[in-house]
Amino acid sequence: FVANVSHEIKTPITAIKGFVETLKDGAAEKPEDAERFLSIIQKHVERLEAIVEDLLSLSRIEKEAERKEILLETHGIREILAGAAQVCDVKASAKDLGLEIACPVTLRARINPRLLEQALVNLLDNAIKYSEPGQTVTLEGSEQKEEVLIRVRDKGCGIERRHLDRLFERFYRVDQARSRKLGGTGLGLAIVKHIMQAHHGRVSVESKLGSGSTFTLHLPKGERQA
Ligand code: ADP
Repeated sequence: FVANVSHEIKTPITAIKGFVETLKDGAAEKPEDAERFLSIIQKHVERLEAIVEDLLSLSRIEKEAERKEILLETHGIREILAGAAQVCDVKASAKDLGLEIACPVTLRARINPRLLEQALVNLLDNAIKYSEPGQTVTLEGSEQKEEVLIRVRDKGCGIERRHLDRLFERFYRVDQARSRKLGGTGLGLAIVKHIMQAHHGRVSVESKLGSGSTFTLHLPKGERQA
């Protein structure tokens, strides 16, 4: 894992170093070049910032779970879906995507509201990134005998079957270049997996290349909730 982190942060650091040297070697005197190189440096700094933020988030959840500090309370699910949708609304509108919520107001589960919202924001963020303008992303809440289910459904590019098992590993990406271009850190789904473990639940995925993906959060009901 340390080797992976080092590799991930080495790329932006090498780029920043290279462009700073180019600027010092004279490019800074040509306003057009200077502007362009500074924008590239800015992009790489933002990338480093996103990686560090996600790593801190991941280690905080791990530490809190280890110390059994993650408190679960019985809470309405629709409210959490609405909160996550609100956080992602600007990004969805900017891409001309619709966000729909289908969830009974009575649906309740034992959750940590802050962490569940974070998991949903990560899933929605991906659904938005990998959808095409004009499409709709749906957030659904439902209930089965043993579980409360929350689904984030998109009609975007979908994922080839061979990748599905590895998707929740840290830094695993289907398309490295595309993830980077879209500002991904490769840690979003690993964070979702950890959050679901803290809920004594799990996350699953169904996807078809070209037709879209559905990520499902499974929250245990009744006695299985610790
Ligand atoms: P990233 O920051 O790259 O989005 P994630 O851990 O959130 O990292 O996701 C891992 C990879 O899973 C992504 O790089 C992408 O290839 C794939 N992925 C995740 N969500 C979707 C989705 N809704 N549609 C298509 N591919 C997805």
